[in-house]
Amino acid sequence: MAELWVVLQEQEGLPPEYNQEVLAEAQEVAVQHAERLQLCAVQLRAPFSPSAEASIEEAFRTVIPERLYVLQHPALERYTTEGYVAALRWLLRERTPVLIVTSATANGQDWAPRLAAQLGLPFVARCLRFSLEQDALSSLRALYGGRAYVQTRTRLQRQPALVTFAPGTRGTPPASRSQARRWPEIITYELPLPIEEFSLRLQSLAIEAPAAEEVELEAAEKIVAGGRGVGREGFAEIATFARLLGAAVGASRVATDRGWVEPERQIGATGKSVSPRLYIACGISGAAQHTSGIREAQTIIAINP
Ligand SMILES: Cc1cc2nc3c(=O)[nH]c(=O)nc-3n(C[C@H](O)[C@H](O)[C@H](O)COP(=O)(O)OP(=O)(O)OC[C@H]3O[C@@H](n4cnc5c(N)ncnc54)[C@H](O)[C@@H]3O)c2cc1C
Repeated sequence: MAELWVVLQEQEGLPPEYNQEVLAEAQEVAVQHAERLQLCAVQLRAPFSPSAEASIEEAFRTVIPERLYVLQHPALERYTTEGYVAALRWLLRERTPVLIVTSATANGQDWAPRLAAQLGLPFVARCLRFSLEQDALSSLRALYGGRAYVQTRTRLQRQPALVTFAPGTRGTPPASRSQARRWPEIITYELPLPIEEFSLRLQSLAIEAPAAEEVELEAAEKIVAGGRGVGREGFAEIATFARLLGAAVGASRVATDRGWVEPERQIGATGKSVSPRLYIACGISGAAQHTSGIREAQTIIAINP
């Protein structure tokens, strides 16, 4: 049976639901495909990696693929661009899936286009939705910070295609309550690649996280936003609250127009489109021009009279 791969992300601190939502989306695509595709997950790890079992349990909390490929190599202890590219290139020599999907996280956006470019494969970045029809890949993507959408159709010419899926688009699927949870067939490959094959020219020396309130709004997991109702003085409290919560600060246009916060903090039709897991709107009425920027927020709490 033809295969659809979901490459799991193992980045430290990465919310595991990013893997889960890609698995859920891919499962739908696999089932709807005319010839029914076999959903396979791919995990890259170092042999004897202590967190491997736990991360798999977590990744398969909601959707269990039919098969799991485990690619093991000592060079895969930590994420590196070339490590992922070399390992997946090897698996692509062994097997030919129809589609390879991963979350468009920083790492996903790093290795997926490089692998596609090296092998000359079709690649579609940051999809909000995708489907396979005959020998074509249809996808929906957002442009101009979510103010326009574009539907693309890519001819595959019988080659595997790569897709990155915009994180947070689908949200965490509810945990499966089924008693009969069938564990996937696990196929482990000890990658027979010399360490030079990984040519680790790019090395990550350290990860420095910005303070939550400095995080770009588009990347924020939590946002506390203020509007006319909180007034200029209220923004000091918004900032304190955001810091306590580990959230970024956002604002309505009234607040940015009046200079209570920088214009970059404006959310809405003429501001930024955001997709946090939690959006807390304080003193914001919810005008259409504002809410159009928070359509992809998962949980919205509004505080006003
Ligand atoms: C072309 C165009 C583009 C626009 N683009 C944007 C955009 O990108 N983003 C954007 O935000 N707006 C945009 N707007 C403006 C938008 O239409 C609204 O005017 C704006 O969003 C309203 O901001 P607000 O919710 O802060 O203020 P209001 O609508 O005045 O709402 C204030 C809220 O605060 C509440 N409140 C009052 N007192 C308190 C209190 N003590 N405690 C708590 N709550 C209180 C009120 O009940 C009310 O719900 C645009 C408008 C146009 C015409």
